[in-house]
Amino acid sequence: MAKNNQLRPIRQTNRIFDWRQRRSWLASIRYYAGHVLTPELRTYLIQKRPECWSDDVSWLPDAKYILPELTRSLTSYYTHFKGFHGCRPLNLRSYYENGLIGQNSEFLCNMFREIFYDVPQEEVENVISQFADRGSAERGVMWLVGSDRFLVEECGHYLIQGSEYLMSLAANLSHSPNSEDYSRRLRKYGIPTVLEVDIPVSMLSLSQRTELAKMILSEWGQLLTRRLLSLRDDPPCYVIRQNIPSEYLRNHYHPNRITDPHKGRSIYINRHMTCDMCY
Ligand SMILES: [Zn+2]
Repeated sequence: MAKNNQLRPIRQTNRIFDWRQRRSWLASIRYYAGHVLTPELRTYLIQKRPECWSDDVSWLPDAKYILPELTRSLTSYYTHFKGFHGCRPLNLRSYYENGLIGQNSEFLCNMFREIFYDVPQEEVENVISQFADRGSAERGVMWLVGSDRFLVEECGHYLIQGSEYLMSLAANLSHSPNSEDYSRRLRKYGIPTVLEVDIPVSMLSLSQRTELAKMILSEWGQLLTRRLLSLRDDPPCYVIRQNIPSEYLRNHYHPNRITDPHKGRSIYINRHMTCDMCY
């Protein structure tokens, strides 16, 4: 019996990077990056007080070593990266059963045909064929951001009108005989939803890992040098090019108030506050 117990694999504790928990991930830097962000480097930066940008890390004296090493340490320490996906699905059961499936243009085109059943078929098919190249280029791609607040306040159109692909198709239909704005019709289908996903580190490309490391370095450097740059608080964007199994879907909710970027940032009030998968 004891032998079996000894053979049981050790379960690694999940460590989830959550951009919203700034104080927490800033405090954790010491646990995985102490060998890179050394006392000597700190002293140098405190004395020199450079502007610690994230898109240009030339303020680091040895960026060619520090950046890749910090990226490696960061993605060894954290097992998952919390991301939020905005959408307007008809129901949520499929997310819980099949996970998040990257953009599928055939599925969206069929939805488009259903929603615009009363538009001449020739016109609908014409618009679909115009977007065929884009559909294949973006097939299987999924966008998530590190903050749900940012999603609701800056990218609300995904929740209000749904997929950008559907929005583009609708925007390219000519005006209806009764002057209906076709893109507004998308607001009548589905439930505005924020999905919370813990993305496994293996799904992030090296360039995305590096981008995140640069953002962390910038925040760390600004605090250290006490030279805060007045930057927009944009969270990291995670572009995932594969399906995300349902086991990584942590939660979901339906926000009541969503900033509408297509209507002068007015507040869209969502009346669909529950769905088939709400508890
Ligand atoms: Zn729900």
